[in-house]
Amino acid sequence: MIDFRSDTVTQPCKTMREVMHNAPLGDDVYGDDPSVNALEQFAAQRHGFASALFCSSGTQANLLALMAHCERGDEYICGQRAHNYQFEGGGAAVLGSIQPQPIENEKDGSLCLTKVKAAIKADDFHFAKTKLVSLENTIGGQVLSLDYLKSARDFVDEYQLSLHLDGARVYNAAIKLGVDIREITQYFDSVSVCLSKGLGAPVGSILLGDEALITKARRWRKVLGGGMRQAGMLAAAGQYALEHNTKRLSDDHNNAQYLATQLNTLCGFHVEPGSVETNIVYANVDNEIDLVAISQRLATQNILFSPGAPLRLVTHLGITRESIDTFIHALAAEI
Ligand SMILES: *Cc1c(COP(=O)(O)O)cnc(C)c1O
Repeated sequence: MIDFRSDTVTQPCKTMREVMHNAPLGDDVYGDDPSVNALEQFAAQRHGFASALFCSSGTQANLLALMAHCERGDEYICGQRAHNYQFEGGGAAVLGSIQPQPIENEKDGSLCLTKVKAAIKADDFHFAKTKLVSLENTIGGQVLSLDYLKSARDFVDEYQLSLHLDGARVYNAAIKLGVDIREITQYFDSVSVCLSKGLGAPVGSILLGDEALITKARRWRKVLGGGMRQAGMLAAAGQYALEHNTKRLSDDHNNAQYLATQLNTLCGFHVEPGSVETNIVYANVDNEIDLVAISQRLATQNILFSPGAPLRLVTHLGITRESIDTFIHALAAEI
C-alpha cells in the first residue's frame, strides 16, 4: 500500500513490535506500569520538562493541556487554522467550558503578536479571562522560526499568560531547523507531541509540563476516560519512536521535495516553489482534472490519497522514492 493520506498511517517496524512484545507491564492507573513510567521520565528529561503524561492521542493531550491551564470561563487564544480549534470537535468548549479566541494565522502559520495583544480581554466581568496562547509547530507543514518562538515567549511573559505548543509534528520542525528539540520546547509551558505520526508508533501522544500542570492533566485524563491499564506495550513503542525515529524525518522531508518536483512535471499540477518545508506537500490542481475519480482508480492499484483542493500529500516512513515514482507514473497515466 502506498498511502499519502497522512503520516498517521505508519505501521510499527519489526523491532518496534519486538520492543512492544517484551515491554514489562503493570496497571498504569495505580502508577505500576514500568514502561509507561519509563516513557514519561524519558520524555520529560528529553524535552527539558519536570513532568510528562502518556496520552491516548494528540487530541487528548491538547485537551488536557487546555483544561489544565484554563478553568471554566477562561479562554485561550489560538490560530484560526489551529488543529485544537478546527479539528478536535470543539473539545475545549464542549468539555472544558473554555472559550477559544481564534485569530487569523499569518501566511507563515504564526500569530501576529499585535493581533494577539488586541484579543487579550480586560479584567472585566463581561469578558472571559484570557489565560493562554496556543501555537502549533509545524502548522500545515510550515515551521515557526526560533526567533518567533522567543518573541512569543517574551510576549506571554509581559502579559502574564501561559504558552502551549501543539507539537504534534514538532520533531519535523526541529529536523528542518537542524536544532535539538529543546531549542523549541524551552519557550513553552506545555507541549504535546504525537508519537503516532511520523515517529511511527501505533498509538499515543505525550504531554509535557511542570509537575503541577501534569498532576492536573492526569486527573482530567482519568475523568475523560483516558486512564489506561497495561498501556506499557504502547508506551514502549512510543519510547522506541523517540529514541530511533526522529533523525530519519529528514528522509520524509527530502521525499516531499522530490514529490513536489515530480508533481510539477505533470500537466495541471502545480506546487508553489519553496512551499514545502517538511513532510507535507500542497498542490494546486486544474479544475478539469477529476481528482475524486482518479483517487478511486488509483486505490485499485493500492495507491491512496485524499482528493482535495488544494491536494494535500504527506510523506512518512512508509513512503520511499520508488513509491513516489510509482505514484507519479500512475497519475501521469490518468491525465
Ligand atoms: C494529528 C494532530 C493532532 C491530533 O492528534 P490525534 O492523535 O490524531 O488526535 C493535533 N494537532 C496537530 C497539529 C495534528 O496534526
